[in-house]
Amino acid sequence: MNRDAVIELLTAAPADELYRRADQVRHDAVGDEVHLRGLIEFSNICRNDCMYCGIRRSNRKVQRYRMDDDELVETARRAVEMGFQTIVLQSGEDMHFDQSRMCRIVERIKAMDVALTLSIGEREYSDYKAFREAGADRYLLRIETTDRDLYHRLNPGMSWERRHECLLMIRELGYELGSGIMVGQPGQSVASIADDLLYLKEIGIDMAGIGPFIPHPETPLAGEQGGTLEQALRTIAVMRLLMPDINIPATTAMESLHPQGRLMALQAGANVVMPNVTEGEYRRLYELYPGKICVNDTPIHCRTCIGLKIQSIGRTIGQGRGGHISHAKNI
Ligand code: SF4
Repeated sequence: MNRDAVIELLTAAPADELYRRADQVRHDAVGDEVHLRGLIEFSNICRNDCMYCGIRRSNRKVQRYRMDDDELVETARRAVEMGFQTIVLQSGEDMHFDQSRMCRIVERIKAMDVALTLSIGEREYSDYKAFREAGADRYLLRIETTDRDLYHRLNPGMSWERRHECLLMIRELGYELGSGIMVGQPGQSVASIADDLLYLKEIGIDMAGIGPFIPHPETPLAGEQGGTLEQALRTIAVMRLLMPDINIPATTAMESLHPQGRLMALQAGANVVMPNVTEGEYRRLYELYPGKICVNDTPIHCRTCIGLKIQSIGRTIGQGRGGHISHAKNI
């Protein structure tokens, strides 16, 4: 599919037909299982200042938190006891979790015999290497956009080239590589979204996280218009057509736009859900965008709720770790 064809699908093609096609491709390539990942948001401290992000460094209204190592490992243990076979550790870029601390945490969680994904931002090559050697299986780092100007406008002090380099390092180290984009960013064109999707295909990602921009009231982008549900669903669907067998999560942010947002994404090409297994007050404090769902729920409630939703559309909960089926032959 060339750039023009991607743009056509992102804009003019009848939406229902596009979603049906993507759903069929998903069914044929990866089946009807929906893989669950237990997401732990272990620190909302971040050294960066991304203009769209509710936990950006400059937002003084955020009550900051950081789990200690034992608390983090215990949260993972409870998620494993709930049946999760993949744990995702996510945080702002919090350098308290340096190489040796992170490696110790990775080793302790890997001893529970689960797949482990890290989503902790940009690090040095030696860090990525050490985490991988400690047992981390997957790494998630969204490129957000391939429009360099837009990236540098919305991510002050950061470098697109550096982020791209990080993705290449992660891939080279043999992680399953997750990346993705935010759709509906102020100033983002459809052509640039098409470029983003083609870029993700070119670098050979194993997982694509696609979510809408939702303006946060305590950020400089508070007054901007957010991304739409349709735009996000179309982008997920086209991603599936471009890369039939990768993992695509139905992101929680979709459900902040529509009560059935995750199910709609699952029926437009997605095949993964990442229920939040963070406990207590932390769920509310990790507010990347406003209107985050389930902030007052418990992990077990979320696990049960999403399980029932998945069954309601005739899909099943994935057995096993649910890695990218082509990953081994790609590296
Ligand atoms: S988007 Fe990520 S890197 Fe940027 S400020 Fe938020 S947590 Fe930090």
